[in-house]
Amino acid sequence: DSFDAMGLQENLLRGIYAYGFEKPSAIQQRGIVPFCKGLDVIQQAQSGTGKTATFCSGILQQLDYAVVQCQALVLAPTRELAQQIEKVMRALGDYLGVKVHACVGGTSVREDQRILQSGVHVVVGTPGRVFDMLRRQSLRPDYIKILGFDPFICSKNVCYVFQIYDIFQLLPAKIQVGVFSATMPPEALEITRKFMNKPVRILV
Ligand code: AMP
Repeated sequence: DSFDAMGLQENLLRGIYAYGFEKPSAIQQRGIVPFCKGLDVIQQAQSGTGKTATFCSGILQQLDYAVVQCQALVLAPTRELAQQIEKVMRALGDYLGVKVHACVGGTSVREDQRILQSGVHVVVGTPGRVFDMLRRQSLRPDYIKILGFDPFICSKNVCYVFQIYDIFQLLPAKIQVGVFSATMPPEALEITRKFMNKPVRILV
């Protein structure tokens, strides 16, 4: 199996190879194509298996680059993780000209607003700052068609789930949802039933 066989755009493939990947990992082999088709997916894989590149590729494949509006939102439980995902997304999407911004707490709100208003395709962020940007209308939800979670639940932060509900309510009703989590505890599955439409579950 190869990245070439996945039907990905030429410029996405260039980004993947330039990043140094030669062959897809197991999760990438099974997960990229269904996500690219627009299906809701739950992908259970440990970190270290290549799940970041799986959902980054799935998102990058589906964006309309001519429209400089936020079309995909990825939520992460920590600032560090959000910034890590931002880097991978930007690198893989380099030849596509993707504009990615990490919206995380502890940084300047003004600066976030400035960057969002200048136009981005993808926002990766922590729920608190993302919700703040939505509420201030610096982040417009109208064009968002993909919502990703990596991972879904952060047990250390009880507010996380409530923040996710708040954000979800501001997003368009028809949205593709991807959950990328090593574990799926019962409360996480419960929430997915509310958010997701017949998710494909992939376990690696
Ligand atoms: P992740 O599971 O997303 O945290 O990725 C774990 C590590 O594997 C990262 O350092 C990636 O750069 C690397 N990686 C992901 N996919 C591949 C691949 N197809 N080939 C080689 N390395 C990869």
